[in-house]
Amino acid sequence: MSDKKEKISAIKGMNDILPADAPLWELFENTAESVLKSYGYQKIVTPIVEETGLFARAIGAVTDIVEKEMYSFEDSMNGDKLTLRPEGTAGVVRAVIEHNLAYDGPKRVWYKGPMFRHERPQRGRYRQFFQFGAEAIGFSGPDIDAELIMLCRRLWDDLGLDEIRLELNSIGNADERQRHRADLIAYFEANIDVLDAEAKRRLHANPLRILDTKNPAMQDLVNAAPQLLSYLGEESLAHFEGLKKILDANNVQYTVNPRLVRGLDYYNRTVFEWVTDALGAQGTVCAGGRYDPLIETFGGKPTPGIGFAMGMERLIELMKAQGEPAAPSQCDVYMVHQGQEAQMKAFILAERIRDAGLDVVLHCATPAGAGSFKSQMKKADGSGAAFAVIIGEDEVANDVVAVKSLRGEVQGGAGDGAQQQASVPFTEAVDYLVDQIVGAHDHDHDHEHVHYHP
Ligand code: ATP
Ligand code: MG
Repeated sequence: MSDKKEKISAIKGMNDILPADAPLWELFENTAESVLKSYGYQKIVTPIVEETGLFARAIGAVTDIVEKEMYSFEDSMNGDKLTLRPEGTAGVVRAVIEHNLAYDGPKRVWYKGPMFRHERPQRGRYRQFFQFGAEAIGFSGPDIDAELIMLCRRLWDDLGLDEIRLELNSIGNADERQRHRADLIAYFEANIDVLDAEAKRRLHANPLRILDTKNPAMQDLVNAAPQLLSYLGEESLAHFEGLKKILDANNVQYTVNPRLVRGLDYYNRTVFEWVTDALGAQGTVCAGGRYDPLIETFGGKPTPGIGFAMGMERLIELMKAQGEPAAPSQCDVYMVHQGQEAQMKAFILAERIRDAGLDVVLHCATPAGAGSFKSQMKKADGSGAAFAVIIGEDEVANDVVAVKSLRGEVQGGAGDGAQQQASVPFTEAVDYLVDQIVGAHDHDHDHEHVHYHP
């Protein structure tokens, strides 16, 4: 028997988030959640798997996602056609209708979680990626559009991200798009030799999406194409003007990008993207838009909606580019011990310290053994703890513990002269540590381990 085992790796395009990066993710999520909360948004969690038909209908048949990116499979038990969610809006809208969530008025919700798209993996483009999104269901005016946009701005500000700009457009309603579409098709047909294969394929199915092309050879053509904005009727224009007015009054900078589209039937009026130049080709960190007709097409009562989704990997990369966060500490207290009796006392004391609300790492044995005092103290230093609690034979004999400050001077207490280490009776150790650690933070019980310096 060979003891060479086959190495197992993650699926291509699907990433692990390792402990070293976890603090950044946590910081992003905590900040986003508190911003959302400050605007009255509530959390919603929907399943990662839905019926394939939901996405086909909510996203639109002639889109990148539905045409070629969905992870779809048959349930091997009953043959149901299922899909790993490629985005969050469809599931939220399904849940809103299924549970009649908007029955007593409009709702503001947010979600976060993994999405799955079978794309070619590259920087900023993965097969499993995380989105943080919000949906406002039941609001029709431009005020909610502005709120969602300004909520994003507040998040960038809170995270210290200043290289993100806003692009804005209105895609009107279905009638307006229909008239524009006819002219657009005629325009592209007159220039058919400039279209690439994908554009030709989309010419009659989804010509609006051709405007989105990244093909350099087609840029002049799409730049001179008929602009949807000039087909907007009075109501759509008033909505767009209303949005811009609120943004202007609140000092939100934006550029109107007439080529910004959502090529989906159920999207209308406001579309926006937050874009950065700091990430190379995949620079869109957040995309949003209105989808007023969507809920009705799913059999719900006519209910307007608007939302956005942020690509979390791209935002984490932006945060990294601004500077690494300070190394996070694992714990407040690291417990060092030597000998069986000391280990027992350490275990009991660690539980009591946790009861008091502090975080404790108890030194535990590895295959190499429990380790000398010296090697345990090294671990204590590396943990980022404020204090090491040391229990050896002498401490057991005298019913005390040694408390060593790892980050500076001990405040008060029975110092040993150097003010770095104190001998504290076993029964007073918890109070002593709480006093040292919580007291040092002005009795701020909500002490943080992770500090991020942009
Ligand atoms: P693109 O045109 O770049 O493919 P999209 O229109 O497919 O973008 P949306 O469906 O609007 O993107 O998704 C919202 C956000 O989610 C994007 O702006 C991006 O930040 C992020 N995102 C989308 N697809 C991926 C992916 N495969 N990997 C990482 N992040 C992604
Ligand atoms: Mg895409």
